[in-house]
Amino acid sequence: MEQTTKKVTSPTKGLLQSDELYQYILETSVYPREPELLKELREVTASHPRSMMGTAPDAGQLMAMLLKLVNAKNTIEIGVFTGYSLLLTALSIPDDGKIIAIDLNQETYEIGLPVIRKAGVEHKINFIVSEALPVLDKLLENNENEGSFDFAFVDADKVNYLNYHERLMKLVKVGGIVVYDNTLWGGSVAMPEELVPEGMKHGRHFTIELNKSLASDPRILMSHAPLGDGITICKRIQ
Ligand code: SAM
Ligand code: CA
Repeated sequence: MEQTTKKVTSPTKGLLQSDELYQYILETSVYPREPELLKELREVTASHPRSMMGTAPDAGQLMAMLLKLVNAKNTIEIGVFTGYSLLLTALSIPDDGKIIAIDLNQETYEIGLPVIRKAGVEHKINFIVSEALPVLDKLLENNENEGSFDFAFVDADKVNYLNYHERLMKLVKVGGIVVYDNTLWGGSVAMPEELVPEGMKHGRHFTIELNKSLASDPRILMSHAPLGDGITICKRIQ
């Protein structure tokens, strides 16, 4: 019971049986293979008061694998923060690959930017400071953008995930991948509502709606993986 309460109080990255087990995975399989500059980006983010927003390294490792599996070249990222998932994407795509990276906040992007520059991958990134939805709508005004992306990662405002999904089902090609982050919302999706802290209820509501909707979406194959804070991997099939 103590463990459950702890998990729900803050959307920590451990959804496993114990913190020790999560630590075991990180220390055995993730950290030893994490590129040095991604570690550095985690370190420069660590002193930020919202450092827990960075993508969990175990979820990041799976994302890097997916990017490689589909030979992703053109990608979209919604929700950059200091750039952990952005840098791992930039490191995983080819030198002439492109990422449209969208975030409302330029300041947090600039925290990680020196590390991105040091990695020599800044030329792959088109960072747009904006609400994400109008950027996706603008992309869709040009027919050439339809089906032109291989991969998208969504890690921003949960209230808009279904709006993003509708746009991404047009922008990402058939066979392409869309990954949604935080789809278990600290484990709260399976808690009785009265036990969920007030600050998590809003996100929990939209996450539950997203999960239901994705589960019945015939346009995708999907896997709901309990990594990090829960990630849902969707492959567009129609
Ligand atoms: N993927 C990032 C990483 O690996 O560090 C973490 C992203 S953080 C959880 C969420 C980000 O989404 C924040 O930087 C926030 O500014 C951004 N955001 C929130 N609402 C947004 C919106 N409507 N449009 C664009 N970005 C948004
Ligand atoms: Ca996240």
